[in-house]
Amino acid sequence: MRWFWLVPVALLAACGSKPTGLVKFSGFAPIRPQDTDSRTAIPYCGACGTKVDLGASKCKNAKCLEPLAWAESWGCGFCGASGECRPCRLLDQRDFQCSNCRGKGVLTYEGRSPKCPQCDGTGKCPMCKGTGKCDQCGGNRKMTRDQVAKLLKDRETKKDKDETQP
Ligand SMILES: [Zn+2]
Ligand SMILES: [Zn+2]
Ligand SMILES: [Zn+2]
Ligand SMILES: [Zn+2]
Repeated sequence: MRWFWLVPVALLAACGSKPTGLVKFSGFAPIRPQDTDSRTAIPYCGACGTKVDLGASKCKNAKCLEPLAWAESWGCGFCGASGECRPCRLLDQRDFQCSNCRGKGVLTYEGRSPKCPQCDGTGKCPMCKGTGKCDQCGGNRKMTRDQVAKLLKDRETKKDKDETQP
């Protein structure tokens, strides 16, 4: 039954069948590690579009109250379900090297060669660590419900941290 999970959830929804709890992926992996990683997932009611908690049993919109059924996994929206590391693909880093030092791990200028800050001297792409795989789905092309829950938790923790900063 493995093929079943590869069928896009949107298609199932279009056919009018369950599941009704859907997840929208928002944002992309930053090209450079110093750019903000704004990736997140938004669980919502497929019937009315109201944002709900992942795994909620019914829609919280009083006018809807649709019972929600959730899939176990969704096509990864961060890599377009390709499983590839987006920065590597966009920067054409076929061997998944760090784009800043071109895999050398050091930067050479004015006779000095300090450690590359982008890859911390590893010479590998900092997003995929040289694996060439999407860091969110691990190259599996899909996100399991647990992975989505973890991402949402990470985002929540990050938000709390940002807000408590002076
Ligand atoms: Zn609803
Ligand atoms: Zn580097
Ligand atoms: Zn990469
Ligand atoms: Zn992915």
